Amino acid sequence: MRPSWDEYFMQIVDLIKTRSTCLRRQVGAIIVKDKRILATGYNGAPVGCRHCSEVGCLREKLNIPSGQRHELCRAIHAEQNAIVQAACSGTSVNGATLYVTTQPCVLCAKLAINAGITRIVFNGDYPDELSMALLEEAGLEIVKV
Ligand SMILES: [Zn+2]
Ligand SMILES: [Zn+2]
Repeated sequence: MRPSWDEYFMQIVDLIKTRSTCLRRQVGAIIVKDKRILATGYNGAPVGCRHCSEVGCLREKLNIPSGQRHELCRAIHAEQNAIVQAACSGTSVNGATLYVTTQPCVLCAKLAINAGITRIVFNGDYPDELSMALLEEAGLEIVKV
């Protein structure tokens, strides 16, 4: 059974997320344009910084509920990592599709909107209503699989 393009790219993000060092939720993301992968990302500490898996995560220690106080964790989100990776190599993601294993949080949603991403495909829920409201308001096509 040959997968559709969306199924194909969603299978790839499921593999990418296995590199994540987050103690709470492993997330994978890719940015695709014209059926080509422009950038990949998973959630983990910034380059040169120790991972939550080594030094512990403050959100975990303080029992912060999912979807809140992102700034307390040293990890950068998968979607942010993919956008930054594209920026580092001077690759425009304008008009691209973002594939991600979980619904983007509001910070990632704002970055995706201004990076020019026009379509987001994801498969897991995330307790962040503002994120979905902004993506809808900005006119992005949202596909939940
Ligand atoms: Zn953390
Ligand atoms: Zn995020």
